[in-house]
Amino acid sequence: VTEKSAIFIIFGGSGDLAHRKLYPSLFRLYKSGFLKDHFAVIGTARRPWSDDYFRETVITSLKDYFDDSESVMKEFAQHFFYQSHDVNDSEHYIALKNLAAKLDDQFSAGHNRVYYMAIAPRFFGTVAEHINSEGLKTDGYNRLVIEKPFGRDLDSACELNGNISKAFPEDDIYRIDHYLGKKMVQVIPDLRAHNPKFEKALNNKYVSNIQVTLAEKIGVEDRGGYYETAGVLRDMVQNHIMQIIGATAMDEPEATDAKIIHKHKCDLFASLKEMTPEQVDQDFVRGQYDTDNLGEENAYRQEDKVAEDSNIETFTAGKLEFDSDRWSGVPFYVRSGKRMPDKTSRIDIVFNEKVDELGIKPNTVVTLLIERKDGHSILINGIDYKESAQDFIKFPEEKEFDNAREAYESLIIDILSGDRVHFTLWDELRSTWKYIDTIEERWASQTPEFPNYISGTMGPDSAEMLLERDGNSWVWDD
Ligand code: NAD
Repeated sequence: VTEKSAIFIIFGGSGDLAHRKLYPSLFRLYKSGFLKDHFAVIGTARRPWSDDYFRETVITSLKDYFDDSESVMKEFAQHFFYQSHDVNDSEHYIALKNLAAKLDDQFSAGHNRVYYMAIAPRFFGTVAEHINSEGLKTDGYNRLVIEKPFGRDLDSACELNGNISKAFPEDDIYRIDHYLGKKMVQVIPDLRAHNPKFEKALNNKYVSNIQVTLAEKIGVEDRGGYYETAGVLRDMVQNHIMQIIGATAMDEPEATDAKIIHKHKCDLFASLKEMTPEQVDQDFVRGQYDTDNLGEENAYRQEDKVAEDSNIETFTAGKLEFDSDRWSGVPFYVRSGKRMPDKTSRIDIVFNEKVDELGIKPNTVVTLLIERKDGHSILINGIDYKESAQDFIKFPEEKEFDNAREAYESLIIDILSGDRVHFTLWDELRSTWKYIDTIEERWASQTPEFPNYISGTMGPDSAEMLLERDGNSWVWDD
């Protein structure tokens, strides 16, 4: 472990993301020695807090996740400082700059800065521009970290990208898609490189279809306000599902270099087959949850901060196709929803009969579990790969899942190391937004009959029919 040096400036330092994800991840990095003596964290938000009060809030949230002694937490919290800040006030950026410089001297942080946007997306551009115009940048590195959502359609994503690009060069921008921080998603290229037979089978000669499911058991909880501006297509498909497909279906990278991997992903997304509005009607379905069978749970339209006649979708299933030598003719079925029977994140790769010629049993299904389930991570025909009679896919020894890092922890190490492989590039977002816009535009022109599925079920029947029509069926079926 090599200790890293940096001053973190967290915009939105009093918020939910900072307390639930960032501070616990920084604490793990502190305990493992990635962060030690040469770092400090400046939290900013509007409220006038003292350093001591801020540290108390940090320690309080750490206690939800760790049972380390309070003295270790206090020692860690000594690296935390607070600066009240209004995103539009230039004076506040000067104060921030001076505080960062002072802490850099105090902790010998090597003039490195990580600017983390844990703040409402409408402020991303403003804050990035002020960091630049008020001269916060140093002669060390200056990395800008952007949370999701990155726009709500192609136009707004372009505008946001234009604003941050004026202030930061692309190489210094780290766009977070936390699914790219998950171990299984990171390891897919290694799995492919390590298992030649598996790699050889990953194309339209041998694959019948590929299914990606990101299912949640819970509803929108207290995030109804945000959800009303998004819906599951924007919230899960445009980013997470597309990135999972990218890792699984891009051409095999010749090296693990970020530039090469991104190029292959960009090429894949650029080959997404465009749909006509009529095709959207056929190939994409949407749903919104009703109460459960007992009538106990809220329907989506009864949730806090949700309109009584909301047409926002909480479920979608669809069929994507690619125009490429490798994948044309193979349907990629995607599905994501809230209030489904269980929480799961998985990729099911369904092979056809021809794989026999590679020595893989005909019609074999390989399941990659993005969230480990009951200790399993890869299933072959529903059986743990270690117990399966087939052995064409296994982990490279050192990549096994034990002690997997939390997604944010892993992404913060990458940011501190200047490794952009697990972040999204603008070109990828442009292609995926363009694709999603076609669906959103069609949907906006029609009124759905919502609600259309009972909480705790697999979504509307149309999601089953989507596959039946092609002679296929969902592998994950409750
Ligand atoms: P939040 O509402 O809990 O926190 C927002 C923060 O911004 C607070 O610290 C608040 O004080 C600060 N703030 C608000 N207006 C300000 C202003 N005018 N000037 C300065 N500071 C201001 O939000 P959150 O849930 O922590 O989300 C933060 C970002 O992270 C958002 O972009 C969100 O989309 C993204 N995100 C959050 C989660 C999550 O689980 N919470 C997950 C993924 C992405």
